Amino acid sequence: MADKNEKSNLDSTKLATNLVHGGRLRSEYCETSEGLFLTSGYCYPNAETAQARMAGDEPGFVYSRYANPTIKMLEDKLAMIEGAESCRCTSSGMAAISAALIAPCKQGDRIVAAKALFGSCTWILKNLMPKFGIEAEFVDGNDLEAWQTALSKPARLVLIESPSNPLLEGVDIRAIADLTRAAGAELVVDNVFATPLGQKPLELGADWVVYSATKHMDGQGRVLAGAILGKKEAMDEIFDSYLKHTGPAISPFNAWIILKGLETLELRVSRMNQTAAKLADFIADHPAVAAVRYPGRKDHPHYDIFQKQQSEGGSLIAISLKGGKESAFKLLNNLNIVTISNNLGDAKTLICHPTTTTHRTLSDEEKADVGLNDSWVRLSVGLEHPDDLIADFSKALNAAL
Ligand SMILES: *Cc1c(COP(=O)(O)O)cnc(C)c1O
Repeated sequence: MADKNEKSNLDSTKLATNLVHGGRLRSEYCETSEGLFLTSGYCYPNAETAQARMAGDEPGFVYSRYANPTIKMLEDKLAMIEGAESCRCTSSGMAAISAALIAPCKQGDRIVAAKALFGSCTWILKNLMPKFGIEAEFVDGNDLEAWQTALSKPARLVLIESPSNPLLEGVDIRAIADLTRAAGAELVVDNVFATPLGQKPLELGADWVVYSATKHMDGQGRVLAGAILGKKEAMDEIFDSYLKHTGPAISPFNAWIILKGLETLELRVSRMNQTAAKLADFIADHPAVAAVRYPGRKDHPHYDIFQKQQSEGGSLIAISLKGGKESAFKLLNNLNIVTISNNLGDAKTLICHPTTTTHRTLSDEEKADVGLNDSWVRLSVGLEHPDDLIADFSKALNAAL
């Protein structure tokens, strides 16, 4: 079928068009919406074809742990959006990030990472990789001298997150990319908080971008999904066999959900970001609040870094309460529209208290290292009307005074 319905290659370089049409792979039925190929296997017309397809001598799907048409549409769409040569999707964000850390490394390799990371990334680097002789060193994401020192010794990978979880630290991606390259290592950027709309790590010199598509890409809190993006040749070489044989494949159903989520990504994320900017300003002025961290606010300690590399302030806000944990709990318990949950990037505005939930396993020293204490809450702003969210916060912050 060599007609305009068949293939993905659109002429557009425009994000809005690619979010809707990118990766299109229509079947013989010319369906409008992406087909959901809920199948584990594929059939062959004869034994010769089976042999040729399994050997890779002939194109075609052979097994959904390797590839699937619905998943391929998602991978191609994400690659277009990110401006990457290649993408592989996985069953969760952590499946993508763990693959990105494990697959390239061998015994004796070294990884340098920023201290402020998603909790499970820290666990992998501290507890899993050393069992296989791969050591990690952690540095303050903003201390360029510390990066220089850490990268004066050979390293295989560097891992950073910007803005980071939960305190929204900014890390200078271009500066770290330059140091990484000079050290002969490769830079992996967890871009979940910024989203592909807000920040383009590959353009800033990163080698790999990883996502939890569970967050803004789904955007409605339904399914888990992850993605790794980067250069095609390296992707094929490093990740093809790893993903095929270890099997963190995404369900075609979940891939289809993310495909539908991506159609509205720009609309949702830009609305969330606008509301977050308003809400951050309101919250920062409240007497119960000691500090607000929002990348779009000039009082953020890393505002200059965000101005260089991130187009909007994002949908996440960190808030420190003057009254510490007691006040933070009162805030959470007195909110009505805003829901207590550790997820983020959802249409619903969600709030959590990191030191008793997402970051409860950090030692006191580790918390101090990233500046985290009981006074902080993390807010993920959703799609409700900003006036309602402000009213909800006004009432709950008054109760937290
Ligand atoms: C949620 C998240 C992850 C993990 O993704 P899952 O889909 O939950 O496995 C990794 N990094 C960041 C920054 C996240 O927010």
